Amino acid sequence: MKQKELQALKNFNSCRSKLNMANNIQAIRGMHDVLPGQTPLWQYVEQMLREVLSAYGYSEIRPPLVEKTELFKRSIGEVTDIVEKEMYTFDDRNGDSLTLRPEGTAGCLRACLEHGLLHNQVHRLWYYGPMYRHERPQKGRYRQFIQLGVETYGMPGPDIDAELILIMDRLWRSLGIRDKVRLQLNSLGNIAERLAYRETLVGYFQERLDELDEDSLRRLETNPLRILDTKNPAMQKLIANAPELMDYLGDDSLKHFNLLTATLDDLGISYEITTRLVRGLDYYSKTVFEWVTDELGSQGTVCAGGRYDGLIEQLGGKANFAVGFAMGIERLLALIEASGAVPLARSVDVYMIRVGETAEREGLRFAEIIRNEVPGLKLQVNCGGGSFKSQFKKADKIGAEYAIILGDDEVSRGEFSIKPLRSEQGQQTLSRQQTIAFLQELCRPD
Ligand code: ATP
Ligand code: MG
Repeated sequence: MKQKELQALKNFNSCRSKLNMANNIQAIRGMHDVLPGQTPLWQYVEQMLREVLSAYGYSEIRPPLVEKTELFKRSIGEVTDIVEKEMYTFDDRNGDSLTLRPEGTAGCLRACLEHGLLHNQVHRLWYYGPMYRHERPQKGRYRQFIQLGVETYGMPGPDIDAELILIMDRLWRSLGIRDKVRLQLNSLGNIAERLAYRETLVGYFQERLDELDEDSLRRLETNPLRILDTKNPAMQKLIANAPELMDYLGDDSLKHFNLLTATLDDLGISYEITTRLVRGLDYYSKTVFEWVTDELGSQGTVCAGGRYDGLIEQLGGKANFAVGFAMGIERLLALIEASGAVPLARSVDVYMIRVGETAEREGLRFAEIIRNEVPGLKLQVNCGGGSFKSQFKKADKIGAEYAIILGDDEVSRGEFSIKPLRSEQGQQTLSRQQTIAFLQELCRPD
């Protein structure tokens, strides 16, 4: 091809690839793909969560991801960050206002009320899945994120409050990050106590209006307790000197709180009483808690929850008891990664190399027999042909521990060669039965 034509072709190709890039559809900001390299860690954590929850006799519930907007307005509260500015709300084709769930407590309770699960019953439930909030995406803060939610109904506590804390404590231990998180604890009292406190707090802030930021000035009218939750560093001194809700608690709330702390002392679980902890949602009463870490910068709350007895009546049910928590799984994973507690996970144990027409046929058939005989083994069969060398390369790249080699020679002798890929041991030739026995031994639990 002439020089000029070549140049024209190059220009054309470069334009085309730029165009393609512009046309590539990308994921929504703040919503992330979990790629195959990351899923083993997710699955490991998910399995731990399930094991720990089942050790306490908790059952899974799966409410829908979309609910009527009204449900969140009524439960989370009209003047919370979530309802004011973070919800993904849209009209469906019937003109009903729907919302992608920003949290799971409301939907779980709605489901239990709707199906009559709360009448004279006690429940310990969990759910797991995506939540949606239109926040400014940054490390540890996304627009689609995964939560484990745990909710219990029908128990006045504080024994059940303590049980939830025990579950979280056990989970940190099983994930090897117990020393990375600390428990912060507070009591929000009941509604009457909070109202009395609210008046004092408003008085305190009104005398210091010039120290409040714009958000807090607005909150002073609508939800003054939330001012205590501000992340604005300039206001921290003002917050530190504010009156404390703990001083406004009545006998019942104090008894609940003191019994909880005494139980935790008995169990050897340490905690910090954090009187500024108010939580971002409106529905809490009495116990509230957060598990925080210093390893993740400003998004340091990994898990948060508390008691919300009043919400059941607020959603139309009979007076009852409820306490739960939600854990942000992305933050949990980031913490596991930051603390180096990542377990080794292999997606393939054994890679089958097949070269030659008969070997290919025989290999596929034998792989099925292996899968029948050796439960738990992760066996991948080479597909798409290739030389011994190129297939070995694939086996190595995927991280397999062993290769089973099947060429036409092996097939004619009814044998298999097995080669360790991660050690210096040599290759050995085994019969069909010996191969199965070898792989069974490999999968035997230690
Ligand atoms: P924050 O103060 O960090 O905004 P929150 O009080 O809004 O948290 P909750 O609604 O109690 O959080 O949710 C419980 C947990 O879910 C949080 O402690 C956190 O681990 C996780 N979480 C909340 N919002 C996000 C988000 N946008 N992205 C990732 N994880 C989140
Ligand atoms: Mg938030």
